[in-house]
Amino acid sequence: SMASPALLMRVVASAYSVAEKAATIVRNVMSAGDLGIVEKAGPNDLQTKADRLVQKSICASLARKFPKVTIIGEEELPTDDVTEDLIEDGHCEEILKKPCPAQYTGIKEEELVIWVDPLDGTKEYTEGLLDHVTVLIGIAYGGKAIAGVINQPYYNYEAGANAVLGRTIWGVLGMGAFGFQLTEAPAGKHIVVTTRSHSTALVNECIAALNPDHVIRVGGAGNKVIQLIEGKASAYIFASPGCKKWDTCAPEAILHAVGGKLTDIRGNSFQYNKEVKHMNSAGVLATLRNYDYYASRIPNTVKESLVP
Ligand code: AMP
Ligand code: MG
Ligand code: MG
Repeated sequence: SMASPALLMRVVASAYSVAEKAATIVRNVMSAGDLGIVEKAGPNDLQTKADRLVQKSICASLARKFPKVTIIGEEELPTDDVTEDLIEDGHCEEILKKPCPAQYTGIKEEELVIWVDPLDGTKEYTEGLLDHVTVLIGIAYGGKAIAGVINQPYYNYEAGANAVLGRTIWGVLGMGAFGFQLTEAPAGKHIVVTTRSHSTALVNECIAALNPDHVIRVGGAGNKVIQLIEGKASAYIFASPGCKKWDTCAPEAILHAVGGKLTDIRGNSFQYNKEVKHMNSAGVLATLRNYDYYASRIPNTVKESLVP
């Protein structure tokens, strides 16, 4: 008989379904019309009812199935008021059927850390830029981002009524990433994707130093890594603190699973063990290809002003 699936594959298969439930909540809150916006650190750091409900849904659903896994979510919320309608107990059968990469078959629950961004791109969500929004579930082991799920609740929302709304992208290191078409960026062109709502003088100075052919300004860390793997942009560059571990864990795992690279702006890789500082103080540099080209052109003055 078949051995039961490895823990990692069970976690990814559950995270897939949990992220789909999350996407439904994101869409329902928007169509109900009351976003319940709360300012956290200020007007560029928002939380909505969707951020709150989705975090409760994801964290409670995964904690119920995997009680010994450490789960770290972006939002600070009471954990005692999760209603049963927020719980998702399904999983994706197709993921469960795939073999776990050999190096991960022995992982135990207490060795996993799950980083949850219930809604990445909240500012854009409140402004109606709906396809910038993603739900991020990143899975770390030994301090490394090894698997991730990115759900884009409004994928296709401008593609007409016959298009399927929303999609789920997932990946595991050593296995690859699925749910999208891996596409190369235009050859010989330098297209940079960066923040649209958290620009600073340093963010712009760093991009200018690279002399790109084109700059795309969109919300969300998840959305920007999607731009890389779908060939819309050749580098994601953000020379500022502000991104947190829950922003980068899932996107990094998926990007690395297809051969890309995500680091801070100085070239240091991120750690995702549960004790790590949440803030990615030294920014983000990510590419699918030609990482060294971009890394070698980040000015030293920029690197020196961003301390990890
Ligand atoms: P952005 O590219 O601006 O959409 O940022 C990607 C992620 O990092 C989002 O979750 C943002 O909320 C977060 N982020 C980036 N910069 C800041 C900042 N200055 N303050 C708060 N959150 C930020
Ligand atoms: Mg975020
Ligand atoms: Mg968020």
